[in-house]
Amino acid sequence: MAVERTLAILKPDCVRKDLIGAVVKQIQENEFKIVSLKMVRLSKEGAEGFYEVHRGRPFFEDLTVFMSSGACVPMVLEKENAVSDFRKLIGATDPAEAEHGTVRKLYADSKGENIVHGSDSPENAGIEIAYFFPISELVQMHK
Ligand code: ADP
Ligand code: MG
Repeated sequence: MAVERTLAILKPDCVRKDLIGAVVKQIQENEFKIVSLKMVRLSKEGAEGFYEVHRGRPFFEDLTVFMSSGACVPMVLEKENAVSDFRKLIGATDPAEAEHGTVRKLYADSKGENIVHGSDSPENAGIEIAYFFPISELVQMHK
């Protein structure tokens, strides 16, 4: 299995609850390398663009209001099998259904405010990484 990249976002609830450090620690303890990381505040339109595939869903308005409600921390993670391993680490979308020990089970309040985003396929990871990070911010740190 080749080394792969995924996009993670620590969502505004994670930042507001002062959980950046705890979640980054858990990510690093699970052998993901941080390739790039920053703090940004999405506009409403920026959040809509990121979640374009969900436009028209009943939760789209609440989701994009929430994602633009405060700072978030996008980061690019690298690991063998990063996309699916990160989805395993964060757990199910609804924290009530997430496995014990996952980020969402540990910290999330609800399906709408669930602490963290993770790309769902290598193809989408590429698109989502490019949404936040220009090539110049994707330096090879771990060679
Ligand atoms: P995931 O983030 O696990 O990939 P989805 O891509 O299906 O989940 O949805 C994107 C985000 O939209 C979720 O993380 C969650 O914050 C929100 N969301 C999804 N489904 C619902 C729902 N039924 N009610 C409220 N919020 C939802
Ligand atoms: Mg998704």
